[in-house]
Amino acid sequence: MLGAHGIGLSLLDSLGAIVWLADVNDLSLSFLNRQASTLLGITRSDAETHSSILSRVHHDDQAGLREVCRAVAATGTSRPVDYRIVGGGKLVPLSGHVHAVRAEAGDTLLGLAFVGLAASAQEPAESPRGAALEAREHGSGAGDDAVAMHAAAGPLSARRAARLRRIEDIIDNVDGIVWEVDADTFRFRYVSAHAEQILGYPVARWIDEPSFWVDHIHPDDRHWCLALCKDATARGIPHRFEYRMIAADGRVVWLRDYVRVVMENDRPSLLRGVMVDISEWKNVQAEREKTVSLLRTTLDSTADGILVTASDGSTINAYNEQFVKMWRLPSHVLEQGSDEQALATVLDQIADPDAFHAKVRWLYESPEEESYDIVAFKDGRLFERYSRPQRLGQDVIGRVWSFRDVTRRFRAEAERDRLLVAERRLRADAERAHGRMAFLAEASRKLAAAPLDVHPTLVAVVELMVPALARWCAIVLPEGACASGRPTTAATHDSPTIADRLCPLLCRYPPGADDPIGFTDVMASGQPLVAPSVPDEALRAAARDEAHLALLRALGSTPRMLVPLMIQGRAIGVLAMGAKTMGSHFSPEDQALVEELGRRCGTALENMRLYREVQEALRRKEESLALLDTLFSSAPVGLAFLDAEMRYVRSNRALAVNIHRRSPEEEAGMTLHQVLPELAPRVEPYIRRVLDTGEPLVGIEISGAVPATPDHGRHWLASYYPVRTARGDLLGVGVVVVDLTDQKRAEEVRGKLYQEAQEAIRVRDDFLSIASHELKTPLATLTLRLEQISRRLRDGQPVDKEPIVRALAQVERLTALTNDLLDVSRIAAGRLTIRAEQVSLGELAREAVANASMGLQKHAIVMVEPFDDLVVVGDRSRLAQVLANLLDNAVKYSPSGGTIRVALSKHDGEALLSVTDPGIGIPKEQQGMLFARYFRARNAPITSYGGLGLGLYISRDIVERHGGRIGMESEVGRGSTFTVALPLEGPREEHARPS
Ligand code: ADP
Repeated sequence: MLGAHGIGLSLLDSLGAIVWLADVNDLSLSFLNRQASTLLGITRSDAETHSSILSRVHHDDQAGLREVCRAVAATGTSRPVDYRIVGGGKLVPLSGHVHAVRAEAGDTLLGLAFVGLAASAQEPAESPRGAALEAREHGSGAGDDAVAMHAAAGPLSARRAARLRRIEDIIDNVDGIVWEVDADTFRFRYVSAHAEQILGYPVARWIDEPSFWVDHIHPDDRHWCLALCKDATARGIPHRFEYRMIAADGRVVWLRDYVRVVMENDRPSLLRGVMVDISEWKNVQAEREKTVSLLRTTLDSTADGILVTASDGSTINAYNEQFVKMWRLPSHVLEQGSDEQALATVLDQIADPDAFHAKVRWLYESPEEESYDIVAFKDGRLFERYSRPQRLGQDVIGRVWSFRDVTRRFRAEAERDRLLVAERRLRADAERAHGRMAFLAEASRKLAAAPLDVHPTLVAVVELMVPALARWCAIVLPEGACASGRPTTAATHDSPTIADRLCPLLCRYPPGADDPIGFTDVMASGQPLVAPSVPDEALRAAARDEAHLALLRALGSTPRMLVPLMIQGRAIGVLAMGAKTMGSHFSPEDQALVEELGRRCGTALENMRLYREVQEALRRKEESLALLDTLFSSAPVGLAFLDAEMRYVRSNRALAVNIHRRSPEEEAGMTLHQVLPELAPRVEPYIRRVLDTGEPLVGIEISGAVPATPDHGRHWLASYYPVRTARGDLLGVGVVVVDLTDQKRAEEVRGKLYQEAQEAIRVRDDFLSIASHELKTPLATLTLRLEQISRRLRDGQPVDKEPIVRALAQVERLTALTNDLLDVSRIAAGRLTIRAEQVSLGELAREAVANASMGLQKHAIVMVEPFDDLVVVGDRSRLAQVLANLLDNAVKYSPSGGTIRVALSKHDGEALLSVTDPGIGIPKEQQGMLFARYFRARNAPITSYGGLGLGLYISRDIVERHGGRIGMESEVGRGSTFTVALPLEGPREEHARPS
């Protein structure tokens, strides 16, 4: 493949690159080009003695190189590598690719080839694209080996032939294009087979097309590439540059071209070089740059200080800004790159420099060790220090130190620990407080549980204290202290036998003036007492007897605490307790707790007393209410309460049922107008006035119809009272209603009776004066006539008939008067007899008219009678008496004279007999009494009209005894008609009553 082997070694030597070939397994060198030989200080023949390339590589880079070689051998793919060669007392960084070298025919791996450049040679390459390289070795030039190569064209020794073959292999396996161009035209004279593999153009095109290379340079790179090449060529110096070419398939391929100028007669004749496909490396490099920048950024932005040293600490390889700041290192110290120097600078800051230094030394001597510790500074800073080996693959290639300033964290942690301790203490306090609160709550619950019964409550409280807080506990209430008024004691002790006796003993020996326990003092002072145990001698001195001593010992042999039970600043009892042992004592918290309990006991006892009082007051109030209620509902008078809106709030049955015709329940909430529609307009103003003025209105008479008695009016006496709360606020109006209807009626009756009585008295008085007048008048006349007759008889004169007749008339009149009086007494005694006989009324009437008409001058009596005779069954003389009386009255009460009509008629089986006169008539209001005994109408004074007022009374009795009726119609000044109706069939048995 090398074609005219003329190129061969001289080409490799003239590349300007460093080329070595090594064994896959131990990297022992089998070939070096001239540059490599010079750099490594190994002759080519030495190379063949198989010294390893690693022997010349810097210790720190050996692992990296080995790793790359291993990977290339395994994959067959070229890889980039950077490493440093140690030679001539200095380090030369190399950068290039390791390639796999294979036998032409097959896959057999012959070795690994490195093709690269010394980095020092790269350093001028500030431009990323490339740079001209100054030839480093001018000494031998290409001449010797070119000669050798040309010589090699002749017959070759077997060893030389083998070597040449290896060179051919190298060239062909070099993962690059080996080429040769004309220095003037840049036209290719030779190009290796790889050209086609890398760029895809047939080798022939490279050779045939005069400007092939220039044409296929990436347009962006073409200009400067040409310029650079031309310049370097003109100057005859080797150069290297990186640029892009466009591949046959359009890909952009990054190439690194190593170019050497072959001079002929001091002018450049040929250029020889190798183009290496660095596309992948470029990518990796870009990637690595990214990674490095990422790492760098990370390193710089981390809060930790980072230092990377050689694993033995000999050099400083890297560090970040934070490290510089944290360690306060002057920049020149780090720039020197010596960790020993840096260490010396910082040691005086460190609290324990010896230990610090010893630790660093130990870690440099133990490259595999990791460590973590805290570095304390004299100024109080604290750094967390991590140190771990930096590895490449399996190899330790350095040591990474990282430092973190944990001063604040440690301080915060210390503060946190301090707070934690404080918090625990507070929590414990809170828990104890909570316990005490729970205890108090439980005690309060017990105190509130039995509001009426003091003793069980106190027992519950003392039992709560023992044994939780005390060995014994007692509550002593002297006489009169609590609601019961009796002395009360509750006590308990953690020894059951003492507990049983404690209470009886406390009752038997109530604390006196010399009480050594302190009950009396606390009671008197109202102040709590915390006291140590009482010496036994003192107890014995105070004890009245053995039992008392036992009591005092039970209470006084350990420290004790007594608190007063206070009510309104006054001690009403003592809560006392003893510590559990001689040595124990009551803490201030215990004391506060028990004092609080004492206060609560006091309050609870006061509450019990108040509760009892309230209960008692309530009971009394309920009794009063019940009494009032009974009175209210059963009172015979109507009672009601109306609110300010005049709604019935409450009313009793006497009012609701008897007057309103509703049940009290029904009318509750109703308004006055709803309950009493008719009366409300009259009642409302009274109630309104009471509401407005707050003054009562008493004894108001009200009459009217109410729902209970809609048809007749009733009368009430009503009183309205303001109803107020205890504070005087007006609630409404209380109504008291007394029904006066019966009383009114009785009064009316009484008035009527009174009037009647008055009338009767008047009638009687009238009667007496009338009777005496009526009797005296005929008697006087009679006496006068009889004296006249007697005188005549004494004088012997003849006696005239006329005075005798007149005297007889007076006697008749007296008789009639007497008969009337007799009839009255008969009627009153029920002894008036009626005979039963056929009486012709026509006949009777005619007779009576005839009798009455005698001696009349101003009057005329006419009679009208039917054709038929009207016959009734009765007493003829009595009926004649009735008719005579009527005619007598008609004449008498018609003082002006006139015609009197007597009419007989028949109607509905009755005979009607009427007498009509044109006389004075009878006042309407007196007509009803006309038939009463002794009655005389006011318009008929006795001075004008005689008569005892008996005729009509007797007549009515007679007519009624005949089963008939008597009635009248009259008008004052116009006259009267009296009518008698008698049954025509004759009187029935009951009517014709035998008297
Ligand atoms: P007296 O003997 O007084 O008339 P009576 O019983 O007959 O008694 O009448 C009672 C009263 O009735 C009279 O006092 C008179 O006032 C009145 N009276 C009776 N008849 C008449 C009459 N025809 N016209 C007017 N008054 C009469």
